[in-house]
Amino acid sequence: MRDPFKIDGPTCISFSGGRTSAYMLWRVLQSNGGLPAGAVVCFANTGKEDPATLAFVQECSEQWSVPMVWVEYVSGRNVRTVDFDTASRMGEPFEALIRDKQYLPNPATRFCTTELKILSAVRYLRTQEWEEWDNLIGMRADEPARVAKVRASPSGGTRGVDRRVPLADAGISVQDVLSFWRQQPFDLALPVVNGKTMHGNCDLCFLKPPAQRLSLIRERPSRAVWWIAQEASLQSSARITDGARFTKDGPSYAQMLAYADSQEDMFDADEEALACFCGD
Ligand code: SF4
Repeated sequence: MRDPFKIDGPTCISFSGGRTSAYMLWRVLQSNGGLPAGAVVCFANTGKEDPATLAFVQECSEQWSVPMVWVEYVSGRNVRTVDFDTASRMGEPFEALIRDKQYLPNPATRFCTTELKILSAVRYLRTQEWEEWDNLIGMRADEPARVAKVRASPSGGTRGVDRRVPLADAGISVQDVLSFWRQQPFDLALPVVNGKTMHGNCDLCFLKPPAQRLSLIRERPSRAVWWIAQEASLQSSARITDGARFTKDGPSYAQMLAYADSQEDMFDADEEALACFCGD
């Protein structure tokens, strides 16, 4: 059987900043004796990542001596490259996208994943004159629904892109990933709860269940401020007539901040997060 981590042409390795895609990168480095020529490791920063995520991306780069390209969305559907020192930390790329769109992403229309993560990497690679390439995505064997979507549409609608899921091909599960990290001299400084990193990706991502977001707001109420500001800014926009929410059926972020003072359990603690491309 072909080694799913072997690279033999132009390849973008999508690094979400989580443990799973970092493990995928490590496996690629093992299978190829380092990062092969023609391969790029790409981290797309939304500006709403936990600081620990940015530190982890940088540490993987330094510990494994592997260059990484940090990209960010720029207003006008452009992209820029940054690094650990210059990366946005106040939600600037995400806010620029919302200003461009003049509406908010939501569970049914997840354009933030598409624009901030997928297309920012694509735009960067096009600036490097890439035409066709493989894209390695950190999806595991225990995420069959996400994997099936990728396998059903390898291009994901992007010209020249062939998406691959080597971890799933190799039968890697979350337990394999966590076991790997327990043995490493460094790790992502975010807790694992029931196999999940609830602080991962954008801090209060609307795809996280309400109970999880409420818990994150209780832990640090200031996390809600940016999300409240985005909802408020569009609610006052003349172009928005039916209100602006990241989740139309759920509470606004301002309401969630108000609920955070209450000790009542208002939301289903067992509700699963909605899957998206943004990764672990
Ligand atoms: S983590 Fe959530 S809010 Fe952030 S880009 Fe992905 S889907 Fe959008």
